[in-house]
Amino acid sequence: MLDERERQIERRITELKKGAGSHSPSIFSLLSAIPELQITVDACFLSNPYATDLFMKYFQKEVLDTGKLRSLLEYYPTQNRPLASVLSPVLRVPPQNILLGNGAVEIIQALIHRFVKKKMLVVLPTFSPYYEFARPDTEVIFFVLEKTHDFRLDVKAWLRMIDQEKPDTVILINPNNPDGGYLSQQELRDMLSALSPVEQIILDESFIHFAHEDNTYHLISYRELCQEFPHLITVKSMSKDFGVAGIRAGYAIMAEEKVKQLLQNGYLWNISGIAEYFFRLFARSEFQEEYEPLRIRYIQEMQEFYCLLTKISGIKVYPSRSNFFLVELLQREAEEVAMELLIRYGIYIRGCGDKKGLEGNFIRVASRKAEENRLIAQALQQVLN
Ligand SMILES: *Cc1c(COP(=O)(O)O)cnc(C)c1O
Repeated sequence: MLDERERQIERRITELKKGAGSHSPSIFSLLSAIPELQITVDACFLSNPYATDLFMKYFQKEVLDTGKLRSLLEYYPTQNRPLASVLSPVLRVPPQNILLGNGAVEIIQALIHRFVKKKMLVVLPTFSPYYEFARPDTEVIFFVLEKTHDFRLDVKAWLRMIDQEKPDTVILINPNNPDGGYLSQQELRDMLSALSPVEQIILDESFIHFAHEDNTYHLISYRELCQEFPHLITVKSMSKDFGVAGIRAGYAIMAEEKVKQLLQNGYLWNISGIAEYFFRLFARSEFQEEYEPLRIRYIQEMQEFYCLLTKISGIKVYPSRSNFFLVELLQREAEEVAMELLIRYGIYIRGCGDKKGLEGNFIRVASRKAEENRLIAQALQQVLN
């Protein structure tokens, strides 16, 4: 239980949360509003911290130490089209199918405003912009994942719903946020074939670098399938895998015609100088070679974290193929536990009380570096017992 001083902090956090809508307030807004708060681990934001370290190493050496930062800030960055050509070889997709975004969310907004017609189908729980950005004249229908099935998508029931409701657009996130539910490459391919009557499928693979089907951990992506399935649009945020949310970098792969339509009246210099530096770095093979072992190390530590979490009593940890775990609190209230973790232990996690389609007491815990994961597990154990 919190004491009076802690209760006061709690009230201020609650105020701040109201202002952040359906997303958690960033660490910056928390700390600037409540400076006495000590945050030791941010397990709310879902990124690979080792990848951030790698990016910082290059950024320090090539941008800060050389004074190149000034020109990144002073001059206009490269336009969207030539940058698509920089990404083309590393994505193995023709440049005319690539649209770069100021974060994936900019593209999600464009897709939903411009290409969705009357009806779209969203799986719940989900990343909320997918339904929040719908136009007033779009009907959003939901397919709700069941906790009794560990939030696995029941593909047959989902296909039946599509058959009955006939949405023009269906949205899938794989692995899904916030539960980490995952459809295998085989399942996904079979589904795409079954979905040919749907006008468009938006497949968000923002967490795909953390997915794995066996212990070779090979990198999975569906972006190349866009040529085989012309109604498929893949969306990819760089924020999570590369730990660079502040840069705002994402892209989507879609039919050439759609890219053209979007570029006709927008997206000229939507990639900032620093995001351009990131994309050019991402396209270099030396960066990819250094990134790969860090990606695998992070996945392995995430699996160890899962084992640590499952040893804690009073919770249920749902299976996840991503870098976060949806945890159900069996005896305590989620927001209360989230507050206690933050105020008393400096551990910031996501209480899921406001997540549509998630009934019960859930928190979402991101995997960080191994030593931080141990701190998270210890604190959770102490709060619960
Ligand atoms: C975080 C997130 C995004 C948005 O990413 P940005 O590139 O930071 O805009 C998109 N899709 C999903 C599923 C996410 O979780």
